[in-house]
Amino acid sequence: KPMENRITDIGPQKYDKFYPPVIAKNKGKWLYHEIIKPGVLVHVAESGDEVYTVRVGGARLMTVTLIREICEIADKHCDGHVRWTTRNNIEFMVDDKAKLDPLVKDLESRKFDGGSFKFPVGGTGAGVTNIIHTQGWIHCHTPATDASGPVKATLDVLFEDFQNHRLPAQLRVSLACCLNMCGAVHCSDIAILGYHRKPPLLDHEYLDKMCEIPLAIAACPTAAIKPAKVKVGDAEVKSVAVNNDRCMFCGNCYTMCPSMPLADQEGDGIVLMVGGKVSNRISTPKFSKVVVAFIPNEPPRWPSTTATIKKIVDAYSAGANKYERLGDWAERIGWERFFDKCELEFTHHLIDDFRDPAYYTWRQTTQFKF
Ligand code: SF4
Ligand code: SF4
Repeated sequence: KPMENRITDIGPQKYDKFYPPVIAKNKGKWLYHEIIKPGVLVHVAESGDEVYTVRVGGARLMTVTLIREICEIADKHCDGHVRWTTRNNIEFMVDDKAKLDPLVKDLESRKFDGGSFKFPVGGTGAGVTNIIHTQGWIHCHTPATDASGPVKATLDVLFEDFQNHRLPAQLRVSLACCLNMCGAVHCSDIAILGYHRKPPLLDHEYLDKMCEIPLAIAACPTAAIKPAKVKVGDAEVKSVAVNNDRCMFCGNCYTMCPSMPLADQEGDGIVLMVGGKVSNRISTPKFSKVVVAFIPNEPPRWPSTTATIKKIVDAYSAGANKYERLGDWAERIGWERFFDKCELEFTHHLIDDFRDPAYYTWRQTTQFKF
């Protein structure tokens, strides 16, 4: 049988099949949009058509029950249409202003047993939006920290800024649970990065049976791995040796070879970076810089990480001018004052020797006086 016209469940169907009718009709013909209030946008088309969007916070991992409830809301208010953003926010769209208030009231009335919002409205404009993040302990093999846990704990301390526009500008937070970085930690206002601090363990007994040794060697970006013959009991087996001084704890070897694990309760934790952005407003796009070299993993609520992030956000909120992103503010006042105002200690761990000027580091800057 020919393959075309065959209905399968492999891969998503073409996205435009799911457009709400008003989006399909006005595609490419939108005049402008405004944020009416935190979490609520209006887009106006050349034809005069309007679309009102209500953004609510979601989570990267959801129960089927919650997804069913989202679909029920979409059926009730939005003719069955719903949209997920790349930051796991959920957007409900209506094509008539009269439908907006009932939708918002319905969303705000739905709460968990403890009284917190199931569908908090917000995440737009000069505030915090959902934290883009990776997979963490629940799914990936190389995480140095969890993803959903610290993200939930951080958003709990920043929740009022999810619901309001009281920050100087938007504040983008991201989390990647290892430095392979499936999140956007290189270019976020605040980035939470999982970091290993110990080289891989070598399970010589199984290494040659579990792994393609040349692949493990080739996977290392710093050429720290070489082939080795090792004694296991009386037998000599093929394995690898790691030059620990060259290892940067990236975990690439573990991706290739399950007999080279590097997760370690003591060694693993969180690095905080700040000041990155992709926008070119006020200044060019920037990479994030490391400002806290290590915070231990503290599940389930990560109190040291969240308290440090809150201090940074509060200092930024109090000190920055309107429209200044966190990195713009730090550069205007000077990074030395940034560390003072955020009550962060500047340590030698924050200095690196990466020479590429694209990655403008503390050591290279002529302005930094510590
Ligand atoms: Fe896995 Fe690292 Fe990606 Fe996290 S950032 S999901 S640990 S590869
Ligand atoms: Fe090389 Fe990274 Fe493995 Fe270290 S963790 S040995 S740097 S691949």
